[in-house]
Amino acid sequence: MKKADPRVVIIGAGFGGLRAAKRLAKLPVHVTLIDRNNHHTFQPFLYQVALTVLSPAQVATPLRPLFRGQENVDVILGEVSSIDLRNQRITADNIELSYDYLIVAAGARHSYFGHNEWEQYAPGLKRIDDALELRRRILLALELAEREAVAAKESDQADADSSSLNFVVVGGGPTGVEIAGTLASLAHELKKDFRAIDPDRVRVILAAASDRVLPSYEEDLSRSAEAQLRQLGVEVRTSSRVTDIGPQSVRIGNDMVSAAVTVWATGVAASPLAKQLSSRLDKVGRVPVTPDLSLPDYRNVFVIGDMAAAQDRDGKILPGLASVAEQQGAAVARNIARNIRQLQRKPFRYRDWGSMATIGQRAAVVQWGWLHLSRTLAWLIWAAVHAALLLDFRSRSSVLREWVWSIATSKTSASLITGSPRPEQGHRTAVSA
Ligand SMILES: Cc1cc2nc3c(=O)[nH]c(=O)nc-3n(C[C@H](O)[C@H](O)[C@H](O)COP(=O)(O)OP(=O)(O)OC[C@H]3O[C@@H](n4cnc5c(N)ncnc54)[C@H](O)[C@@H]3O)c2cc1C
Repeated sequence: MKKADPRVVIIGAGFGGLRAAKRLAKLPVHVTLIDRNNHHTFQPFLYQVALTVLSPAQVATPLRPLFRGQENVDVILGEVSSIDLRNQRITADNIELSYDYLIVAAGARHSYFGHNEWEQYAPGLKRIDDALELRRRILLALELAEREAVAAKESDQADADSSSLNFVVVGGGPTGVEIAGTLASLAHELKKDFRAIDPDRVRVILAAASDRVLPSYEEDLSRSAEAQLRQLGVEVRTSSRVTDIGPQSVRIGNDMVSAAVTVWATGVAASPLAKQLSSRLDKVGRVPVTPDLSLPDYRNVFVIGDMAAAQDRDGKILPGLASVAEQQGAAVARNIARNIRQLQRKPFRYRDWGSMATIGQRAAVVQWGWLHLSRTLAWLIWAAVHAALLLDFRSRSSVLREWVWSIATSKTSASLITGSPRPEQGHRTAVSA
């Protein structure tokens, strides 16, 4: 690596940014990878942290060790606040960095469809902190319900503990389905640890605005997913828009439902950095890009992953998936290599390896073109694919073993309440729906 080598700055060490940095390893470029966290988060398993199956360390990988053998990569901890396209500089906290090529891969956050006040009552799941907060709320709700049940038994008030303990999941996409299914499996395990709560009190309600769960899948798989959810005990409400969320309640259509915990699993909005890259963002704030994933007016700036409104061959916008972000990261690195060798760039082509969603223990759906699979076989495929993905980031096989064991047995080994274990003033666990 020489001083005159082109400088590549990558914003975000998620699936896209990390893959780009890895692929730039052997090129004569100097790479600076900047992220506001010192770790990569394996988002597909965040719900397992929230639901006490895995611990945070099992789904997060520190960044520095990943680049130990890659001398042309510097890792910087910092939050990028501004991008100056004209002068080719970015600002992160108190430093400025200049670039020859910029790869923006800062991902997305939740969108509450104009109701940001709902976030405090219904956290989403995007970061480790979100998962820990959700885990805290779930465990606290159970602890309080157990305490009330014990107190009711002590004072011989059998009726006092007959109200339902509702967990409401908002969103019928893959994340909502995963959370609802796993919560329901967790409820079955409940009686081993919480002996006073009547397990029949625990209800998991999935509210989906669409007329079926997993609307991006074909209809037979949506139907199968719904059947598998119901089998696990989830109350599925489709065509049911959530119209209000309060501290302990959710309005689903016209029905006010009490909620010990509400989880937000719908709506995404691209990183606010997108606004600095284009004035023509799509309705979820993604940046329109050229076929090689660069900005039309700044060909040295690439936008990838959840931030990009990239089209497939049929002109459809590619979905927000880890595999899309990874393939785009690799494609951008290849095009930078081609530029250095003075070759023409190639357009990005997404290789669709199919879609899969897990629903709970040994319940899943897989869609590979015409091949549609459900239940245990689909779940085994889901587990194998995700184990392979995880191995990409984690070289320690002990972690993989631990994970396989945890999800195969549904052992809730990570059930510490972190943060304040005290309920908020006036917090009640349950009221009947
Ligand atoms: C709960 C959940 C489950 C999912 N399950 C699946 C699944 O099963 N399969 C699948 O294919 N996809 C899944 N996805 C989607 C997948 O995780 C995303 O599509 C993918 O992470 C997008 O990659 P990315 O590189 O664009 O962004 P991300 O992976 O989100 O990475 C963005 C990075 O940018 C950093 N960053 C953000 N802003 C700044 C800033 N201003 N300055 C510095 N750094 C910044 C963040 O810290 C983060 O590290 C899931 C997503 C969620 C939330």
